[in-house]
Amino acid sequence: MFIDGRQVPDGTIIDTDIAIIGAGAAGITLARSFADKAMTVTLIESGGFDFDPETQALYEGESVGVPYSLDASRLRYFGGSTNHWGGWCRPMQPIDFEKRDWVPHSGWPITYDDLLPYYERANEIAQVGPFQYNNAEWWSDGGKNAPLPLPGGEVTTRWFEYSPPTRFGWLYRKPIDAAKNITTYLNSNVLEIVPTADASHVERLRVGTLSGKRFEVTPKLVILATGGIENARMLLLSNSVEKKGLGNSHDVVGRYFMEHPHVDRPAEILLTDPSVVTPYYKTYTKLNGASIRAVFMFTDEYLRAQRRLGTVMTFYESKEIRTDDNYDKEDPVSQRSLEPDILQLMRSASGNKADGPVLGKRYGTGCATEQAPNPLSRITLSGKKDALGLNQTKIDWRLTNADRDNLRKNLEALARAFGQWGNGTVRILFKDKDKWDEAEGWGNHHMGTTRMSSDPRKGVVDANCKVHGIDNLYVAGSSLFTTSATVNPTLTLVALALRLSDHVQQTFTRGV
Ligand SMILES: Cc1cc2nc3c(=O)[nH]c(=O)nc-3n(C[C@H](O)[C@H](O)[C@H](O)COP(=O)(O)OP(=O)(O)OC[C@H]3O[C@@H](n4cnc5c(N)ncnc54)[C@H](O)[C@@H]3O)c2cc1C
Repeated sequence: MFIDGRQVPDGTIIDTDIAIIGAGAAGITLARSFADKAMTVTLIESGGFDFDPETQALYEGESVGVPYSLDASRLRYFGGSTNHWGGWCRPMQPIDFEKRDWVPHSGWPITYDDLLPYYERANEIAQVGPFQYNNAEWWSDGGKNAPLPLPGGEVTTRWFEYSPPTRFGWLYRKPIDAAKNITTYLNSNVLEIVPTADASHVERLRVGTLSGKRFEVTPKLVILATGGIENARMLLLSNSVEKKGLGNSHDVVGRYFMEHPHVDRPAEILLTDPSVVTPYYKTYTKLNGASIRAVFMFTDEYLRAQRRLGTVMTFYESKEIRTDDNYDKEDPVSQRSLEPDILQLMRSASGNKADGPVLGKRYGTGCATEQAPNPLSRITLSGKKDALGLNQTKIDWRLTNADRDNLRKNLEALARAFGQWGNGTVRILFKDKDKWDEAEGWGNHHMGTTRMSSDPRKGVVDANCKVHGIDNLYVAGSSLFTTSATVNPTLTLVALALRLSDHVQQTFTRGV
């Protein structure tokens, strides 16, 4: 059942077993998993079924670090940011969960294997194809679609699969409406999560509408699922008992904010024989019941040996190369690949004739790269207030020279791989600069602000996604990520929500 919070009488108190705050990918996945189970569920969503500028404005705030848009990078209505996500899906790699001694603050309290069964179910929820992300044989189709045979063991091909993209709010509205045990309150904003006087247990949620209604929800158990930035803001705003905010005894809430910095055309790849490039590198390709795209990633052996963080590289667009190609004059700041310049070789082989024959193709690249967890990159509360009277978000996104250097070194590894192969060459275009104080782009991926760690001094939640020190408050979403990996976050956060659902159901079976 759906109820418009603006129709709820002032002062109403709603008793429930489970309250889920936020109906995005995480909140909807959790609500569906509880459908028709022996527990009452109250799903509280800030927006209605459509975009509304006044509700969206509740996401505005200040950006004081690397410039970032708090408003354009998320949507505040039923379905959340899946109302405009791109549907790129890929699980993290096992190495992403490990403690890597060269990555400060790395190491999740769970492993890839803990999440694997949930990843497979998440694939179904996001309407993605078969779970064959690293299976070259599967996508090669008997060798017809072979990946590029890059030697050297540093760079490898892996595959993204695409969700249609699933609009969670559209697809799952009916089953959530039909579930007898779920009531969804729309246009209803949680204003504060209020704990008992000793702050060890959530007692009630204060809820308000933009039309001025105020009511309360009294749950046995609460799951906060308002998105990777808003989860931290909600905990910081819940400060009537604990002045520093809930779950924030060690000043970790809001810290370690991570994105996937994107760089357009960090390198260009020139190939002498474009026929070897399987179409799935260049565009979405339908294969074996899935829509897929191949990317270049870096092998675990390389990441360990060179002490690097990951990068995902896409291939796009191509242009024919002729002997009179003057690409090297187009971008004077570009730096040559480390490998022999294939164009020069081709030019001299053809006698440097103008309007000569087509000698190969140029490919642009795009990339998303891993940012190291950094406690100084953070979400805090701004002094400015939103229309509900709550402090807006202040975001201080920090990127470091080490993050930049890491990307550069990965591009050099890509250049080495193509150079060793002998069929192409890579020109690195990513500029050498001391500082990374502006982002060329980002993924709208908000990670790390309520990170997972078994140590309350290093994380906000434990391995079960429960807030340290509070017995009935859980968090869902990419704010849980201890490290960000390089892949888009939604498949992982849906898998984590399914794992949390199992834990919550076991908790209820034992008696909360
Ligand atoms: C343009 C764009 C493209 C993207 N493309 C991809 C992609 O290709 N692949 C990928 O993996 N990810 C992608 N993402 C990211 C993806 O959309 C998010 O990872 C995902 O939606 C996060 O799910 P969530 O449930 O944690 O948060 P959200 O989807 O943000 O949902 C949070 C919900 O909480 C509600 N809410 C907020 N505050 C309150 C409150 N106080 N009270 C009640 N309700 C509240 C909001 O209205 C919203 O419905 C993209 C994002 C954007 C913006």
